[in-house]
Amino acid sequence: MKRMILCLLLLYGFAVKAQIDRVEPPNWWVGFKNSRLQLMVKGNDIATMTPEIVYPGLSVTGVHKGSSQNYLFIDLNIGPETQPGTFDIVLNSETSEQMKYPYTLKKRLKKGEQYFGFDSSDVIYLITPDRFANGNPENDVVKGLKEARTNRADDYARHGGDIKGITDHLPYISDMGFTAIWPCPLLTNDMDKFSYHGYAITDLYDIDPRFGTLKEYIELSSKASKKGVKLIMDQVANHCGIEHWWMKDLPFEDWVNDQSNYEAGNKPMYSNHRRTTNQDIYAAKIDAIGMSDGWFADTMPDLNQNNPFMATYLIQNSIWWIETAQLSGIRQDTYPYPDKIFMSDWAGAIMKEYPNFSIVGEEWSYNPLLVGYWQKGAKNHDGYESHLRSSMDFPTQRAIVEALKEEEKWNKGLIKIYESLANDFHYPSPKDVMAFPDNHDMDRIHTQLGEDASLTKMALAYLLVLPRIPQIYYGTEILMQNSDKPGDHGLIRTDFPGGWAGDAVNGFNGEGLTADQTDMQNYLKTLLQFRKNSKIIHEGKTVHFSPKEGVYALFRIKDDGVVVLILNKNDFEFKLDLSRFKEIGINERQMTNVITGEKVVWDDSMMLEAKKATVLSTVK
Ligand code: CA
Repeated sequence: MKRMILCLLLLYGFAVKAQIDRVEPPNWWVGFKNSRLQLMVKGNDIATMTPEIVYPGLSVTGVHKGSSQNYLFIDLNIGPETQPGTFDIVLNSETSEQMKYPYTLKKRLKKGEQYFGFDSSDVIYLITPDRFANGNPENDVVKGLKEARTNRADDYARHGGDIKGITDHLPYISDMGFTAIWPCPLLTNDMDKFSYHGYAITDLYDIDPRFGTLKEYIELSSKASKKGVKLIMDQVANHCGIEHWWMKDLPFEDWVNDQSNYEAGNKPMYSNHRRTTNQDIYAAKIDAIGMSDGWFADTMPDLNQNNPFMATYLIQNSIWWIETAQLSGIRQDTYPYPDKIFMSDWAGAIMKEYPNFSIVGEEWSYNPLLVGYWQKGAKNHDGYESHLRSSMDFPTQRAIVEALKEEEKWNKGLIKIYESLANDFHYPSPKDVMAFPDNHDMDRIHTQLGEDASLTKMALAYLLVLPRIPQIYYGTEILMQNSDKPGDHGLIRTDFPGGWAGDAVNGFNGEGLTADQTDMQNYLKTLLQFRKNSKIIHEGKTVHFSPKEGVYALFRIKDDGVVVLILNKNDFEFKLDLSRFKEIGINERQMTNVITGEKVVWDDSMMLEAKKATVLSTVK
């Protein structure tokens, strides 16, 4: 019967009523430096309609159709006098009814200059949200989503952690001494499986309902801010999830790379992951294209940032999130994979609106030449300017592990951190580089160091005294490890104990932790709380001495204040002759041992405990 009515309607020329499914960005603001806004309007046969917007100060400067009939892109200019308010996007058609869609321009909560990013005064706590804490068991399974189940026994299934879990434990995070959080992506990943990690985004404007709501995300930001904790959003400009809503009806024939091949039912071209092609002066074109245009995985289509509508979409999306969630920073995934000219435009557009903001890009390279290439102010051979404050310090990560694990020899052991740090001359701003002992994509540092808590402590002490922005993965403080299955991503991202009701152990309040775990938690807390207020570490200059007899010393100096880190890798007590450090000028100064609180005088020599980091400060 229904079908007959529909046939009759079509027969008599009544079109099925068109509708607007979505307009993105879902709202905007007045008062940006960039007065332009491009709306993506999606709806059945929308391209046959003519948009009209009447609002004081606002003008429509262009209307573009895609290659699909179901998209319109509307260019707007928001004049300087435009007031916040709501207007109708009116869509007229000769053959069907007029449609209206209300659209709001909001007032900005603060000026762009008032968004302060993370910097060397911060220590960032990296969190895999599905695995940190389940604050709301009601949202664990959401009907209508493809992976509508949880299984905590399966390392690759969803476990139920969420935004509320993070918000509830902000007091813990802040008491530990962390001043920023970086949760892995919280946007919707409506994928069949492995949706817990968040990097296969299927809607760039929607919080995954299994993590919570937009309101809860905004609440996380404001509650964190009140505790002095900055919120960093993990964003992905390189790819989306294969189940992204637009994959069923792509706006343009080149919206994603290798699109025609994919639409013909073939396997996509995969990235060759040859990241050096971004800098290599000898790189063949085919290799450079293979790097930037290949798909990251067959579940992750490669977005074509050379399509100007895609480019604008991504830039506006980032700004929408900064403004909506009052962010303090962005971590951009897989930085060398998208088109690098676009990435410079992207970061440049953000930094123009928010000059004190911070973005860190992930370049997984152990070569400081590549890491430094991406930092703002780098004197690059090709004139490339990234506009990024921070780049990720994989070279230091590897150096820490090698320095501590290798037997001391002329070219092995502590010499690795000494020579690695010596590469800092290459960075435009070493203190703005983000260093870390591990992250969500590699073995836990405690596993990498053979589950030797003494070495893990030394690694953390070194990291926290460096001229860097340190990042620490959740659970490091309670010696979380993945030694049973090295390299297993699901296990690396183990549930934080106490994050789920009924957990036998609770890392948040200490119940059930082993003595070693509690000791590490206290150790890290002491260091973090000290670092939080140490301008010497945040801003001081650095002097280090070449390692000798299994001992390495690094000094941070600001005005009259000095912080000293000494690593004694020997498994015996060591009497260190201090005369070699005369140039620092701290002879006879009284110093405080940051960990024990003990007072010591810097004179001729010092006894160092076996396999231990000593951190001393002239300022308590
Ligand atoms: Ca939950």
